[in-house]
Amino acid sequence: MKILCETVVQDRVTQRNRSPRYVKSTLAVGYNNSAKDVDGNNTRLLEIMHFTPQNQAGERFKVTNNIDKIFSKFLRDGKVTIGFKEPAINLMINCDPIPLKGFLQTIKLGLEGKDSINLRLNIAAATAILQRSKPQEKLTVLRRGDYPVKGFPRTLKSLKISNIQLLKITFDICSLRNLTTLDLSDNQISKVPREMGRLPLVSFTINNNQLGTINNWEWLRGKEIRKSLRELDLSANELNHFPLDIIRLEQLVGLKLSDNKIKRLPFGFRRLRNLRNLNIASNLLTSLPSDFNQMRIVVLDLWGNKFGMKMEHNISEAGTNKLNSAPLWLLAARAVCQNKLPYSAGTIPWMLIDILAESPLCACGKLCFDTTIYERAVMATLDNVKTLVSSREHLIYADIVLCGMSCGGRKQMLFYEQP
Ligand SMILES: [Zn+2]
Repeated sequence: MKILCETVVQDRVTQRNRSPRYVKSTLAVGYNNSAKDVDGNNTRLLEIMHFTPQNQAGERFKVTNNIDKIFSKFLRDGKVTIGFKEPAINLMINCDPIPLKGFLQTIKLGLEGKDSINLRLNIAAATAILQRSKPQEKLTVLRRGDYPVKGFPRTLKSLKISNIQLLKITFDICSLRNLTTLDLSDNQISKVPREMGRLPLVSFTINNNQLGTINNWEWLRGKEIRKSLRELDLSANELNHFPLDIIRLEQLVGLKLSDNKIKRLPFGFRRLRNLRNLNIASNLLTSLPSDFNQMRIVVLDLWGNKFGMKMEHNISEAGTNKLNSAPLWLLAARAVCQNKLPYSAGTIPWMLIDILAESPLCACGKLCFDTTIYERAVMATLDNVKTLVSSREHLIYADIVLCGMSCGGRKQMLFYEQP
């Protein structure tokens, strides 16, 4: 009889285990038909054969007159230990309880010298149970020569291809439907294909590439990736602006954008409600959006930016001044925002959702849209941030949008400072 199980061999003399953890094993029990007794006559000796991946030829243990003790108190939990006299080892077995019970019964029958269908196996010719090899879930390519020419295993969940001067993400990679972790750091990639948005990626690392040269972010609009991505690393890609599609990654927790040339973050940045870690060190930021402080960022790295009072002239969200005649829909949107009324996709037009989530908020809480009053002020606090890395000699500035010249919130702004 053979069973598939997990085992650890413990040396009773030194109390040490031969392997640090349980290993997949085959155990066989049967008679050794070629054994001789002291007088040289044929005799039937019961033996156990133990196969592990480290010992594929197997190790044989005498059972007849050689059992020190069998601990079967936890048989129902699938745990049994067989102690042999010589060598003085304990064979600790984890197995499905049903075959394990059968295995123990077979040993008992064998020790009584009985015949059983389970004992027909010639132990000397026993072999390990063939295990179907586990599907490959992880692959790391760190040399060009290791890049799989015949394609990647479809079963991959984690793939790292780093520092091999890779120029292109092939369709083959984009069709790995089980992939959740992808690391393409330190290559020369200038474009991520749109198909990447269909993968359920949880973590995507593509730092130190050249995504800023083409600046195509269509892949970030993919339904799957928008729902799954939690960690994104776009550091050192020569980005000269913040890719706006990032703010629609609902699950994003960690975002790395260091060592780029980003000048500002959009007001819609607050849409990243799950973001906890942001590294945007070594960029060209001169300010943060004023409602940044309403986010729940815990670790923030702003080191090496250019925070200052001077405002950019071409803030893209600026429109014409229509402050005095807010249209009805804007008044309605403001009411939704100020009263925190619930809304979700499907209940109102998607464009309105975007406006509600991305348009700047005035200090008074009013939604601002199509407005031109921008001011810059020193941001006094970053209340939620527990770890802040920034250049101490530079103040952190915020861009403020006002709902109107006479807005009361203007005075309430603690961090307001006349330029
Ligand atoms: Zn206001």
